[in-house]
Amino acid sequence: MGLVVGLEEKLPSGFLLTTVEKLAGYMRKNSLWTATFGLACCAIEMMAAGAGRYDLARFGMEVFRASPRQADLMIVAGRVSNKMAPVVRQIYDQMAAPKWTIAMGACASSGGMFNNYAIVQGVDHIIPVDIYLPGCPPRPEMLMDAILKLHEQIGNEKLGPNREKIIREVEAAALAAKPTHQLKGLLT
Ligand code: SF4
Repeated sequence: MGLVVGLEEKLPSGFLLTTVEKLAGYMRKNSLWTATFGLACCAIEMMAAGAGRYDLARFGMEVFRASPRQADLMIVAGRVSNKMAPVVRQIYDQMAAPKWTIAMGACASSGGMFNNYAIVQGVDHIIPVDIYLPGCPPRPEMLMDAILKLHEQIGNEKLGPNREKIIREVEAAALAAKPTHQLKGLLT
């Protein structure tokens, strides 16, 4: 993988890079390891997903890593308190890049029912999130569905100049978007 990551800097866009992208995406999506931690009730469902009945092992993901340095997937399972936020951020910072995040459940995605001073109103205030999984709690099948969707996303990720182009486009779209204070109602 280190070879592929080094190569992407040197390759021009075109046929060869497309092939390398596909190869890197295939390897990355099939070698995800999750950082071990759970924050609240959603973590029980996450543990169930790793146990025999649901069997995350079929994706080679049953080993939750005890060290963030050996993990590239963070599943934020449960509400994030303000006190815990710097710890979550530190774990994320220590994880190996490239890395991905699933916000599991209503609390991790948005604060859920805990609209109060103690709870971060969505973990995307402190780390980037790739997949938001609704539910309170989401069932293990839903977590597995989120993981499969993440696999798809990782498999199609661009590298090098192609990735820079997409980042520029996304930034331009974000800058051109209507500010939230100008939005009215839920459907505008
Ligand atoms: S979404 Fe529901 S189950 Fe998950 S942490 Fe929040 S309250 Fe608990």
